[in-house]
Amino acid sequence: MTMKCDKCKHNAIIFQKYSGMHLCKKHFIEDVERKIKLTIRKHYTVKRNETIVVGLSGGKDSSTTLYILDKIFGKRPDIKIVGVSIDEGIEGYRPNTIQSAKELTDRLGIELIVRSFKDEYDTTMDDIAPQKREKGACSYCGVLRKSLLNKIALELGASKLAIGHNLDDEAQTILLNHLKGDVSRMVRLAPPKELEGLVLRMKPLRNIPEKEVALYAYLNDLPLGFGGCPYAHEAMRKEIRVMLNEFEVRHPGTKYALLSGFDKMSGILGKEFPQVGLSKCSICGQACTEDICQACKLLGRDQ
Ligand code: SF4
Ligand SMILES: [Zn+2]
Ligand SMILES: [Zn+2]
Repeated sequence: MTMKCDKCKHNAIIFQKYSGMHLCKKHFIEDVERKIKLTIRKHYTVKRNETIVVGLSGGKDSSTTLYILDKIFGKRPDIKIVGVSIDEGIEGYRPNTIQSAKELTDRLGIELIVRSFKDEYDTTMDDIAPQKREKGACSYCGVLRKSLLNKIALELGASKLAIGHNLDDEAQTILLNHLKGDVSRMVRLAPPKELEGLVLRMKPLRNIPEKEVALYAYLNDLPLGFGGCPYAHEAMRKEIRVMLNEFEVRHPGTKYALLSGFDKMSGILGKEFPQVGLSKCSICGQACTEDICQACKLLGRDQ
């Protein structure tokens, strides 16, 4: 027997174990968009005349982020939305996802900017990854991408940089930091304050479970992503993902509980560990907490 939506008489397409609700397509989409609007209002107030840059990887999460931001703000003449894709130089993987990003921005009539590690850093992940087996290519790649995204957002005069992290990503990161006892990373994970030289990072999907992002993307004909990056290797995060998913099945609502507990704590953390003002990297000029930024150190520019 098909279940009926708890809000109307149509057939349900999803059962949210954590809320106890069966929802039809229309009411599922409404539920996702309502939660995202709430998150934006609570953590990332969008004012007049803002430019929002969306980091677009071409996968389901960033595509959904762009699609929803466009749905919410696209009609406002004073808000500008720009997609930015970073080409890290990963053959057989990145070209496909950039093609997806192009198709989506074309469909929505949004400008897409593509910039590469090759042009910016004169290297590619295909060059770097084979040398980084121990430490993991991802931390390297992540630092460089973050730095480049921030640089482009500054160039565009953007006040927000939206990224596609969903509830699962956030819950995993929170638990990971707990298990490593890494309080300073916790502080940085908290909903950010405005800091000179660092464009405010916005995570509109932080309240939406990964499965629901995938369903939302599917229902709206958005890119779902192409396999995985060949260098993806985050051993501990993988373990935590499995553990959290098993826990969520047995104890629905666990991921939400981790996030809301963290949000309550982050106010207290912020008082104990105030975010310091940023200085400028003496090599590239990007905002950083030390004399030389993480990206320049990784690139060996300080040697
Ligand atoms: S999986 Fe790792 S190496 Fe691949 S694009 Fe993502 S961060 Fe970079
Ligand atoms: Zn319904
Ligand atoms: Zn630097």
